[in-house]
Amino acid sequence: MATHSNHAIDLPHTFDAVQTVEQRYSTGIYSKRPLMLVRGDGAQLWDSEGNRFIDCVGGQGSANLGHANPFINAAIKTQIDALISCPEMFYHEKRAHLLQKLSAISGMQRGFLCNSGTEAIEAALKFARILTGRREVIAAMRGFHGRTMGALSATWEKKYRLPYEPLVPDFKHVPYNKLAALEKNISRNTAAVLLEVVQGEGGVHPGTPDYLQGVQALCREHGALLILDEVQTGFGRTGKMFSYQHHDLSPDILCLAKSIAGGVPMGAALLAGHLEQLPPMSHGSTFGGNPLACAAGLAAAEFLEREKLVERTAAMGAWFKEQLSTIQSPIIREVRGLGLLIGVELKQKVAPYLSQLMEHGVLALSAGMTVMRFLPPLVIRKDELAQVVEAVRSVLHPDG
Ligand SMILES: *Cc1c(COP(=O)(O)O)cnc(C)c1O
Repeated sequence: MATHSNHAIDLPHTFDAVQTVEQRYSTGIYSKRPLMLVRGDGAQLWDSEGNRFIDCVGGQGSANLGHANPFINAAIKTQIDALISCPEMFYHEKRAHLLQKLSAISGMQRGFLCNSGTEAIEAALKFARILTGRREVIAAMRGFHGRTMGALSATWEKKYRLPYEPLVPDFKHVPYNKLAALEKNISRNTAAVLLEVVQGEGGVHPGTPDYLQGVQALCREHGALLILDEVQTGFGRTGKMFSYQHHDLSPDILCLAKSIAGGVPMGAALLAGHLEQLPPMSHGSTFGGNPLACAAGLAAAEFLEREKLVERTAAMGAWFKEQLSTIQSPIIREVRGLGLLIGVELKQKVAPYLSQLMEHGVLALSAGMTVMRFLPPLVIRKDELAQVVEAVRSVLHPDG
């Protein structure tokens, strides 16, 4: 029933009540799972009924460093007591430290800080246009880059795009991992080619070394910028700090977000040293580079290095993929991925199997209609990954 604003509102606490209220007051754009989460620790989550889950959703890739990470939390708490708001018209120590750190770990020179992946892509698109004086952007089929109008123009999936047309003009899509198609389309009018090194949402498809090297060469030849979207693959996810390091690429612009700040909202578009500085006032963000996110981002980078999480992810990811590959199931088409970004492609729709996994205490994602996707926090333990493998085995191979 409607409640008058001058009366205290009854706050819902039980799962049923919370579900009812969220359904009534939220937009309906999310398809929800029947679970209310209350707490996390490392790679585990607890729901309102006290059930424990192994988390292979990982905040959709934003929780690489694990839930309730004490090192990140301490940095956040300290910063909260000092200062949260400090727009970039003022200098801030943590921002300076973070920019320096991002440059050191990526080899890029300058960074624009923002608050999400889609904003990092928007920035990259604007920077590419202003730096080249050209308009055309070439992206890939099955690519995903976000949902604001510019990033959406680069995203392939029609069901995300069609309701919002007209989108930004001068965007083209070419097949991924097919160099000849790009060669046919790239020209002196191309401002940038925008790609993921491993297509995440599009079904966990790693780019081949020859293709990615070839794309970079074509960009150089035509004076187009190479923008790599490492929003999902960055910060150790694929077993390298950034996935382009598997292929010795040197992007002109690198887009980051998701796990950049240990789960605190943040994004970044990093620019290579050979690019000119941008004109004053050509872009901006109120929250961009705020001290809270910068302190969290700095702690996140320090934690990754201190715990050698990148190397650990390479080893754990290889082991996990190998274990999943041993599952004998007529439903599995292919197991693929890099590091701890793993997809199991099924010959059937994946949704019912995700629900069954949940009943076995494992939370996982889909990537498209048929791919089961695992994005666990990189701190996940081997025995937890083994439990995931057993859950997948019993769900996909009911006879054991
Ligand atoms: C998640 C994602 C985005 C969008 O990030 P948001 O923070 O949700 O805006 C962009 N690109 C890739 C590759 C992603 O995985």
